[in-house]
Amino acid sequence: MKRYVRWILAVIVYYGGALAFFRWWKTRRAEGSRLIVLRYHKVNSGALTDPFHLSVSPRVFEKQMEYVKRNYSVIACAEIAPPPLCGGGVASSAAKGSLLAMTGDCHCEPPKEAKQSTTLAVTFDDGYLDNYTEALPILKKFKIPAAVFVSTGLIGKEKVFWWDELERLVHQSNKPHVELSWKEPDGLPQRAIFDMASPVAKVAALVELEAVCNRVTDAEQKNILTILKNQLNGETRRHPIVSNVAGAPRRPRGTAGPSGRPPLSQAASRPGDCRAGCPAYDNNGEDVRMTLSWEEAKELSDSGVTIGSHGANHVLLTKVSREKALEEIVESKRIIDKRLGGAVKHFAFPGGQIEDWMIEAVRSAGYEFAFSTVPGENSGNFDPLRICRRAIHEKISVNPRGKFSKAMFACAVEGVFETVASNKKQVTSRKRRAKDSV
Ligand SMILES: [Zn+2]
Repeated sequence: MKRYVRWILAVIVYYGGALAFFRWWKTRRAEGSRLIVLRYHKVNSGALTDPFHLSVSPRVFEKQMEYVKRNYSVIACAEIAPPPLCGGGVASSAAKGSLLAMTGDCHCEPPKEAKQSTTLAVTFDDGYLDNYTEALPILKKFKIPAAVFVSTGLIGKEKVFWWDELERLVHQSNKPHVELSWKEPDGLPQRAIFDMASPVAKVAALVELEAVCNRVTDAEQKNILTILKNQLNGETRRHPIVSNVAGAPRRPRGTAGPSGRPPLSQAASRPGDCRAGCPAYDNNGEDVRMTLSWEEAKELSDSGVTIGSHGANHVLLTKVSREKALEEIVESKRIIDKRLGGAVKHFAFPGGQIEDWMIEAVRSAGYEFAFSTVPGENSGNFDPLRICRRAIHEKISVNPRGKFSKAMFACAVEGVFETVASNKKQVTSRKRRAKDSV
């Protein structure tokens, strides 16, 4: 029901002309110019069954890129440069960011002709292999520069991210439920039984388990995954839970992605197979590589894709000691600089949580731009080390029948529902405050 309501609202806003007004108003309100940064993860055919909203199908991604190319001035992250300091000083990462520094204008004020423009950048977090096999050909088709943030500890390895491992364990299992005990960050013990008896229950269990893993300590997270592995491994490949994504385009059998091998989305697809579209394992149930290799990262870089750092091991920097966090920030930069040749300037915070000391840490490590997962856009003199982004996935841009909806995507890019949600939050907190003061 909620999906229908959102879609109908988007259609009214888009085709009724309100979106054009909304965009004009936002651009006018921005100091100088606006930067919208889209945040993607995976481009593969598992998008509609993705419980964590990390995927978009190649078919929908192509439509999205066509839309942004037609409606925005798409720039590379490397083009978001800090302005030279007023008075002829040396450009500094401490200076506020500007989209206009590329003009070479020495003033902090943007040049007149660039005022009130809206620029857009496309980014991918985590460095998934499908960014190369599936996204790159589409990016090339529309001549869209993008940035891919990689976790160096996983590049070229068959090691998978913990949430992909979690998804694999639950999807492959035929157990009706799983029982789990864990410790919350405050030390309180918790115990719960997660229902896994149906496809819907499995998705709900995955969402809950992911939330638990996200909030507990790193050690506890590892412990939970070990318990799940012990309980669920060996119960695999007997209980198909989802069908293939309807309408998802596939390369003809035998054709290969730009890497010269069949894309993973194809390797893992078999109608009715629970593993369709979930590329953490192949048709034999073996783990396969999900992340880029260094050769593929280099090819992306040579194709104009900015390669940035996403830390070394994708640990949440708020969850580890400062010493460990600094190591993640510095070491990942050193490795990328060495492997790709050149100085990495862009960093994306794993998990997106930011504290002030982290900003100083990335600055002193030599990064000039850092991206968060804070939803929103950036205007005029934004802080280049706290760049907000908008998360994009399949469901945010399709109609209730799963087809690409220009209206839905346009509203997502402009943050229409984000604004509605934040206004709703403000009204709720105002009401709460009023109630409390009575
Ligand atoms: Zn990430």
